Amino acid sequence: MHVFPSDIGHSNGAQLLRRLLYLDPPSHISRQRKLPEMPGIGERAWVFITKSDGERSWAANQGYDDAVGLYYSYDTNVAQSRKIVPGDIAIIREDDYVAGWGVVEHIDVVPNQVKEITRCPMCMQTRHHRRTTKVPANKCDNRSCGHAFDDADAVRHLETVTAFRAHYANSWIEAARPIHFRELNAIQVTSSTFNAIRPLDARKVPAFLDRLSGRDVDLAVDIPSEEFLALVGGHTEGVVRRRRGQRAFRFEMLRRYGERCVFSGEQPPQVLEAAHLYSFARRPEHRSDGGLVMRRDYHALFDAKLLAINPKSLTVEIAPMLRAFPTYGALVGIPLQLQPEAIPSIELLDEHYSEAVRIFSHN
Ligand SMILES: [Zn+2]
Repeated sequence: MHVFPSDIGHSNGAQLLRRLLYLDPPSHISRQRKLPEMPGIGERAWVFITKSDGERSWAANQGYDDAVGLYYSYDTNVAQSRKIVPGDIAIIREDDYVAGWGVVEHIDVVPNQVKEITRCPMCMQTRHHRRTTKVPANKCDNRSCGHAFDDADAVRHLETVTAFRAHYANSWIEAARPIHFRELNAIQVTSSTFNAIRPLDARKVPAFLDRLSGRDVDLAVDIPSEEFLALVGGHTEGVVRRRRGQRAFRFEMLRRYGERCVFSGEQPPQVLEAAHLYSFARRPEHRSDGGLVMRRDYHALFDAKLLAINPKSLTVEIAPMLRAFPTYGALVGIPLQLQPEAIPSIELLDEHYSEAVRIFSHN
């Protein structure tokens, strides 16, 4: 079942969100202010295309500093640039495959950036691509032109653009399986292959997200509006801080619980990870009773809330979809492997459990 909430625009949540977004913009960077016309979370979706070598042939210029999983950079030279708003779904394509997806949490807007633009010397348009094997290296993408030209012959000049950076780090979900970009073409609104940002057909996006994520995605459940408010407040710096604190947190959890997976007992330390019991975006702190040690694969399922701990019985519960896998099916009902002197916060376990139970209902 797919529910894409459209009611946030009329709720108190939207007012709060609006206030959050207008709050205290840094001196030269302003926050995206298009919220009054903002559609509901996930009502609109885009594919953002990035290249692992940093070079985008569509944009007639180079050097966008994308960080896949964190944010996407673009400017007013990119078609659709002004239409992207917080709440939109961003599916990231890196090279030939889809890397994952997130919901745009906020957009940095930096006006008056000077940028070198290259144009075709024949027709003066900016759309051209680089050829790796043929010379001249550049070929104009204007169908009525098609001129091929050397770098030295390109027309170069400086233009002033507004630069944007769309942040989606706190809601990022990594692709669970490889999906080639051709499948993405099937859910685009138009068959245009010119632009780095392309609108997607909102009716076809839910099924695509399910396949990409390896489970049913229900945005109303996965990212409820109050959760989205926390994501909007949480900066990308929060993600960086979380990563920085991760080693210390893991060491602390290993000291507290020993080199033992809470579900499967003793394991080699290389496969043991520290799992947070709560969303770090919502509560950016490391709490010593706010984590558990578990094997890597259990951690991934625990974070996806397909695996949870019943806070009353301290036994394992799993999403129905996991029952098909013998390794995980065998976990149902088993008690946690904990020492009585080191028990995690029951309140936090309960929070994780209530969210997981909602996810279980459609997975
Ligand atoms: Zn041309």
